[in-house]
Amino acid sequence: MTTNNVLVTGGSGFLGKRLSLMQPDWTYISSRDCDLTKPEQVAQLYGDLKPSSVVHLAARVGGIKDNIENQADFYHINTMMNTNVIHEAHKAGIERVLSSLSTCAFPESLSYFPFTEDDFFNGAPTQTNFSYGMTKRMLHVASCAYRNQYSRNYSTFCPSNLYGPNDHFGSEASHFVAALIHKVHSASEGSTISLWGTGLPLRQQLYVDDLCEIIPVLLQKHNTDKPLIVAPPENLSILEMTRTLIEQSGKNVRTLFNGSMDGQFRKDGSNAELVKLIDSFEFTKFKDGVLKTYNWYSENHND
Ligand code: NAP
Repeated sequence: MTTNNVLVTGGSGFLGKRLSLMQPDWTYISSRDCDLTKPEQVAQLYGDLKPSSVVHLAARVGGIKDNIENQADFYHINTMMNTNVIHEAHKAGIERVLSSLSTCAFPESLSYFPFTEDDFFNGAPTQTNFSYGMTKRMLHVASCAYRNQYSRNYSTFCPSNLYGPNDHFGSEASHFVAALIHKVHSASEGSTISLWGTGLPLRQQLYVDDLCEIIPVLLQKHNTDKPLIVAPPENLSILEMTRTLIEQSGKNVRTLFNGSMDGQFRKDGSNAELVKLIDSFEFTKFKDGVLKTYNWYSENHND
């Protein structure tokens, strides 16, 4: 399979921007180039660019509050985009579509961890992103349906939480690491920052550039109906990550956890299937990735 003439949706997003630095020869589009919720625009895009493969990253993504308050938007926009990207690709004769799901789409309540790809449909996703999670599941269903009925090589992968340069820092949509970097960076020396929860829950945080190195491998090799989990081996507590960041930043800042709103204790996925494809790939250790991200943030933001 050739990796020339690859079209990437979501090119103006956090992941898309980083991918464009590593794969500059691919074509990247945002909603300004094509509104993927409109089938006629997607058909025209494919007709004009004639891609051999599509890496589908575009999505309506947001934080917990946004997910709860705007469930219909998450449902409608993501369902329309995903349906159009897959169906129009099939109609245009595009053999390869690799789509990003998220480990958020996995069931909330499982009695064992780490979960595997086989657990994908074994329970409902968490209520806080139910609508978003279900649209990701349907994107997987769509990919499998065109595989089964038309023998298309349409497959999906599920990254765990991402962090890294170009993340959305300091906004309501921020994920944990980006929000923490913003807080630590803007805290004055000797001050105390307050954080939600107890610090005990465990989380897998994937350095965004690791995923950008892995995507081309998946484009070449991931030709199965498994929603492939892309997660690092480290599964660290919030407290451990907070301490590591503060240590790496060199700042004199103390933390106070407020003890409430912890969320799930753990939600780690197994990367055993992924490792079969990427062999001895070295994941970036959290302490190194968070330092790179902190330094990037320091150079690119004025607060
Ligand atoms: P992001 O920064 O919010 O970017 C979203 C992208 O989707 C933007 O390029 C946006 O274009 C595009 N988009 C939204 N609506 C569109 C429309 N109607 N037509 C065309 N394009 C549209 O998201 P991200 O963090 O990079 O996430 C990329 C992918 O990774 C998503 O599929 C997400 O589910 C998945 N993922 C992300 C994380 C994470 O921690 N960030 C974790 C797991 C999985 P505009 O800029 O023009 O609006």
